[in-house]
Amino acid sequence: MTPNDPAEQKAQRLRIQRFSLAAFSYLVGGVLLLAVSVLGSGEIPLTPAVAAVFVALVVVANLGFYVLLRSGANLRFRDPSLTIPQMAFGIALITYLIYFAGPYRGLLSIFYLAVMTFGLFHLNTRQLLGISAYTVACFTLMAVLLKLRHPETVSFLDLFAQLAVISGLLPWFAVLGGHISTLRRRLVEGNRRLEQALEQIRQIAIRDDLTQVFNRRHLMDLLMHQKAIADRGQYRFSLCMLDLDYFKRINDNHGHLAGDQALRVVAEILHEQVRVGDILGRYGGEEFLVLLSETTLMGAVETAERLRQQIERNSAEHMPHKLPVTASIGVTEYAPGESIETALGRADRALYRAKGAGRNCVRMEPPPSNDPVPRAAVPS
Ligand code: GH3
Ligand code: MG
Ligand code: MG
Repeated sequence: MTPNDPAEQKAQRLRIQRFSLAAFSYLVGGVLLLAVSVLGSGEIPLTPAVAAVFVALVVVANLGFYVLLRSGANLRFRDPSLTIPQMAFGIALITYLIYFAGPYRGLLSIFYLAVMTFGLFHLNTRQLLGISAYTVACFTLMAVLLKLRHPETVSFLDLFAQLAVISGLLPWFAVLGGHISTLRRRLVEGNRRLEQALEQIRQIAIRDDLTQVFNRRHLMDLLMHQKAIADRGQYRFSLCMLDLDYFKRINDNHGHLAGDQALRVVAEILHEQVRVGDILGRYGGEEFLVLLSETTLMGAVETAERLRQQIERNSAEHMPHKLPVTASIGVTEYAPGESIETALGRADRALYRAKGAGRNCVRMEPPPSNDPVPRAAVPS
């Protein structure tokens, strides 16, 4: 995924939201801590200086995470959510506070669990167990330091009991979290498969099996939509009705598979030739319809002639026995307000005339209100 991918942009917005929530919690924590340190000075070792260091660490680290997320630099990491670094920082910070918390050490340990919940939906069991081990290591280091530097203020039993609770509780949290992330991953994967299946079903419903261009039903839906836009004014479109010449002969002389191949080859050529915004569909057995958007009759006749030539020139090389395939094309422009059937009827009559003129050619029939096209330019 690239940073411009809409799905990636959405994921990035979610990451920033989640980060903001964590940053807000830190902020509230920092303010409370400052208040407690000022009010409770003398009773606990948590002095305003300790609280100030906490706030400074929070500000610096969160600025760092914010810059990484905002600049998109996080996308270069395997986990762009930076879950593990954010959790590791939170745990280190809590351990720092526990060191100064005096009798409130046990209370503060609960925040380890709060940090663990941050990773519940994203990390697997192994990673969560790793975080648990890191937490136990942080706490042990803190306990050793505390015992070495202030042996008189803490009882060994007290620290050991806390360590036992943390070491016993966190792995369970990790296992539970692992299950949750597995469930979540399966849900996401299931959703993705469902969306894929739905898209497949949609494509089957709107496309012709053999040629993969739009089928007649969808073609008619799109025509009605185009008609609605054209009827509002300012927008014009033309229709090219295309019928393969002597197609029955191909079937009769070379078999239905050769006939099918001819249909695929012509569909492919047409698909390559029409612009984005134009509409190509299989109208009937060996008939295709091309809707040329933003195109007047004259432009459509030119395009139809190009389509005809491309089929004449390029079809044989993809056919068995280099069979030549040609097409006749009838062209008309849609006149606002008329029915689609009327416009199709005109294209069909023009096609009929192309057949009458010897096939492998283009004929057109202008809409009633359209200025007639000079006869010298286009045969009608
Ligand atoms: P013309 O030049 O006047 O159009 O002659 P034609 O032989 O092309 O016209 P006709 O309408 O007599 O023949 C159309 C044939 O197209 C008849 C039908 O069997 C065949 N056909 C229709 N759909 C398919 C298809 O999906 N595959 C194959 N192989 N043939 C098809
Ligand atoms: Mg035909
Ligand atoms: Mg036909």
